[in-house]
Amino acid sequence: TIGNYTPAPDLLKNKIILVTGAGDGIGRAAAKTFAAHGATVILLGRTTAKLEAVYDEIEEAGGPQPAIFPMDLNEAKIENFEHFAEAVDQEFGRLDGILHSAGVLGQRTPILNYHYATWEQVMRVNVNAAFGLTKTLLPLLEKSEAASVVFTGSSVGLKGRAFWGAYAVSKFATEGLMQVLADELDGVSNIRVNSLNPGATRTNMRAAAYPAEDPRTVTRPEDIMPTYLYLMGDDSRGVSGKQFNAQG
Ligand code: NDP
Repeated sequence: TIGNYTPAPDLLKNKIILVTGAGDGIGRAAAKTFAAHGATVILLGRTTAKLEAVYDEIEEAGGPQPAIFPMDLNEAKIENFEHFAEAVDQEFGRLDGILHSAGVLGQRTPILNYHYATWEQVMRVNVNAAFGLTKTLLPLLEKSEAASVVFTGSSVGLKGRAFWGAYAVSKFATEGLMQVLADELDGVSNIRVNSLNPGATRTNMRAAAYPAEDPRTVTRPEDIMPTYLYLMGDDSRGVSGKQFNAQG
């Protein structure tokens, strides 16, 4: 955790930032927060109507005009990622940050009963898509003065836990991707790469994982934004290869 971080109001001015899973939950809050701090956000997600709603909220709040890019990360192939990178290049010519927030929970069940197809889906959305997007966007991130890539981890991706199946394994893989990429870029690039575990946060995914829990007792996405801002803004320049927790 980063303690009491107070971001400058214009922390992300002139930055172009991609947020995946921007239509709901933590990604939605992050996209709105980044825009409120001056960023032009590219909203990527599965459900166009949700992305449009976030777009409207950002416009109404007076933020820089966002861009929308619907993509089903469960279906996406490398060609789709390449096409997306070309579109970002044509529109903006560079990229200053990526927040990988899109994710799926999969089943909460013992390995013995885990469906192979569900396992593959979780790995595609949570791991393969983050790899494919990051890989194809690296040349555009290199064009930034100081770019930040933030992967979303989880406590079950740091220590395995029964019945979390592919989700836990996908989050271990995410930490691995973060570490490998950070090490490759260390000293030779302006791109920093870190992972962030949001901790228990009031979203649809949390409610699906803990159906008996009263959502009102869970931290709201808006309340964990300081760490997201810290990692996306220039105050974290030079910080790379590290695992962060948004809550204590
Ligand atoms: P939500 O389910 O609220 O949001 C996930 C977002 O990812 C949604 O906007 C969803 O789109 C999008 N998404 C899912 N599948 C796809 C797909 N195939 N293609 C494109 N987009 C997709 O979850 P959270 O906000 O809670 O989760 C955000 C991140 O934080 C995830 O990586 C999660 O693993 C992680 N996390 C969350 C915790 C929590 O307590 N909430 C704790 C630890 C980690 P759509 O709305 O259209 O379905």
